[in-house]
Amino acid sequence: MSSTPVVSSNVAQLRESATIAVSQRARALRAQGRQIIDLGAGEPDFDTPGFIRRAAQKALDEGATRYTAVEGILPLREAIAAAANEANGCERVMPGDVVVTTGSKQALFNACFALFGADDEVLIPTPAWTSYYEMVELARADAVPVPGSPESGFRVTADDLERHATDRTRGVMLNSPCNPTGAVYTASELTDLVRLAAERRWWVISDEIYRRIAYDGPAAGLLSVARHRERIVVVDGMAKAFAMTGWRIGWAIAAAPVARSLTALQSHTTSNATTVAQYAALETFRRREEADAAVAAMVAEYRRRRDAALAVLRVARGPAIVRPDGAFYLFVNVSDTGPGLEDAGSAFAARLLEEHGVAVVPGAAFRTPGWVRLSYAASLETVVEGVRRLMALREAMVPR
Ligand code: GLU
Repeated sequence: MSSTPVVSSNVAQLRESATIAVSQRARALRAQGRQIIDLGAGEPDFDTPGFIRRAAQKALDEGATRYTAVEGILPLREAIAAAANEANGCERVMPGDVVVTTGSKQALFNACFALFGADDEVLIPTPAWTSYYEMVELARADAVPVPGSPESGFRVTADDLERHATDRTRGVMLNSPCNPTGAVYTASELTDLVRLAAERRWWVISDEIYRRIAYDGPAAGLLSVARHRERIVVVDGMAKAFAMTGWRIGWAIAAAPVARSLTALQSHTTSNATTVAQYAALETFRRREEADAAVAAMVAEYRRRRDAALAVLRVARGPAIVRPDGAFYLFVNVSDTGPGLEDAGSAFAARLLEEHGVAVVPGAAFRTPGWVRLSYAASLETVVEGVRRLMALREAMVPR
């Protein structure tokens, strides 16, 4: 007798990550011999800078092959704390407040799991990265999308948060620069949000993984605007700014008791982040000039691609878009390609991939149907060709 394995209620409702699914579909089509322009993956197309790779090789030769402390090697935590304190307007960050994780994704998950639970509600300015909603719900809390308006780049205000708050609200997830829109909150906008959260005693989880990829000077981080960081968890990592997605190094900065809980949680799941990758990450703090130059060169190239993509998108009857001031995403409204459809964005993305060989992520993944996200972390020619095909399909689909 065959029985269908039934998974537990922990994951029964869990959907696969849509951002990852799009990249996998693009890879599968490529394996079938199709030429695919992949603007789906939010992954830098650059190689990890040479000085970082060399540091990893050296660390391996010197024996960086064993466990480290669960929370990460002390010199890396010291370096992360010191860098955080450079723009820190509140209590000093100590190495004991830093937990190094297997990518910023693990830091976000652990923070949600440690801070939220059944019956809690967590406000998520929307659109937001697909995994926030799932992480909050894996913690058995309710994710409450707080929609921003396209006219203001979907950035939400304190009033927007208040309108969605209840007596069950326990926290809010912030992300600037934002995935999927590229919108960047100003320091004063962040100050308002943090002030409200402090008044209400909400937790704030601030995902700052794109902070260094900003086109009008560095994006404001939460530690530079907050008065206290007792109820704030800042998450960052190496993946995006240093083109180190596969190395899986992220971290959380939290008040010491929270950091201890995050460490305890991690001690039962993954233990330390990969040892050699921690030493590679450390090199970016030790060789600041080289590190800053490498980031600046990549950001300059992203900016060129953004500008080229915007030029193609802005032709007559161009779709509504969010002008990205950071990250490497463009969020494009294609709802006019399927009037009456509940989710024109998913239908459009499917057709763009299957018929025109361009992978983008449907806005539904970010709880904003009718839109699509494209990543310009690909060569300039690839980005321009992808956007041209997107525009051509849109032209063909918009009823006249
Ligand atoms: N964060 C990136 C994205 O949004 C990488 C894939 C993922 O982890 O979601 O595409």
